[in-house]
Amino acid sequence: MKNFFAKIGVAIKANKGRTIAISATAFVLVCVIVSLSVLNALLFNRLSKGYVPTDEQLAAIKDDPANQYKRVVIIGVDGVGDYFSKAYTPNFDKMFDTEKNASVTYTGTAVYPTISCENWMAMFHGVRPVYHGFIFKDTNQRVEAGKQTDTEKYPSFIKQYLSQYETGDVLAVCTWRGVNNGIIEDDPRVTKYNTYAEEIYAILNGETEYARTTDKQYQTGYVKDEDGNLILDVVENSKYGEVNAYVEAPIYDDVAGISPLKDYLAAQVMLYGYADETIEMRDAITMQRVIEETVKNPDKYKIAYMHLDQVDHAGHSFGYGKPGYVNAVSRVDMLLGRLYDAYEAAGMLEDTLFVLCTDHGHRLPGGHKNHGKNTDLEVNITFAIAGKTVKKGKLTSRYVDTDMAAVISYALGVKASENWQGRVPYGMFTLLG
Ligand SMILES: [Zn+2]
Ligand SMILES: [Zn+2]
Repeated sequence: MKNFFAKIGVAIKANKGRTIAISATAFVLVCVIVSLSVLNALLFNRLSKGYVPTDEQLAAIKDDPANQYKRVVIIGVDGVGDYFSKAYTPNFDKMFDTEKNASVTYTGTAVYPTISCENWMAMFHGVRPVYHGFIFKDTNQRVEAGKQTDTEKYPSFIKQYLSQYETGDVLAVCTWRGVNNGIIEDDPRVTKYNTYAEEIYAILNGETEYARTTDKQYQTGYVKDEDGNLILDVVENSKYGEVNAYVEAPIYDDVAGISPLKDYLAAQVMLYGYADETIEMRDAITMQRVIEETVKNPDKYKIAYMHLDQVDHAGHSFGYGKPGYVNAVSRVDMLLGRLYDAYEAAGMLEDTLFVLCTDHGHRLPGGHKNHGKNTDLEVNITFAIAGKTVKKGKLTSRYVDTDMAAVISYALGVKASENWQGRVPYGMFTLLG
């Protein structure tokens, strides 16, 4: 063996120049391969393919009521990846029926890194993270604290709608406050709610109302006017001081499945002094708020967005695809059923465009109860859209989550921002072909 290495040493010495050349070539090759795969992750497999609708194609929507929707309801489900194809989700299957009027993909592409803020920002503002500027460092915390991208250059599809239509408001109810605080621009026509854990503890404690003073950004909840009537609004601390904000119990009464959950949580609180699954009830309240507001005011909101967060929490607690995770997906499906039933009873199914979207999956195998990398499990995402102008069937063309802004804008007859990188995927709408 010693001889062997000695021989190699002699050989290298004899061919010094050649050895250096081979090593240098190998080094350059490795660098090129690494750079190409990084570029591929960041850019090439995230390039959108699809339509930029022309003015004539938008006019076909604006000029014909048969192609218009009274509202779009967007259900954001954090961290569900492709699990609507795997978990028990009868209501999702009914709402997004590819035999009827829905286009669905489970192999959409999340942008990299597969972190919530990076992806929700890309979905709302139509550009990849290096453009919207929220990448890698404390991004979730930054949007939670109210930091925004350059919304003049990269407006959200919500701002884009508001700037082109003088009527129609926006409702945004979020279990994860990041979207409301930093991703959707503030506007007098946008009503925002964040659903907080404190509300759950108030219910568990049997309180019917309590003052909220905890959040620096907003006090949210049911607010009473001078006559004692409940009005729904976002209340800024600066405007109202610390008073007049109350959360009332009745909103929870009618949520399917909330009673057993309440019992379960109450038992957890009695046993352990706390319950960390309040996220399930917060999602139920988020959904209930969207249903109540939109059914009560069917002509008010053109865009209603909700952000449900329990699936992502389950991914971090139990792991992707574990029973606790799959159950969370089915619980969200139960909430979808409540929305569907309420809209069916109110005769609102026909004139509503439903969208379900997510930001990323989670990472397996092993104990990685997290996400952020570029594995298929984290990158593959669900995108589902159902309505009278949607081309039915499994979506076979590319969908990247930067496309969402372009998709929703087109469906509403809104011209896309020229700075958006997202496109309307081929084969998603009947009028585009
Ligand atoms: Zn997320
Ligand atoms: Zn997460």
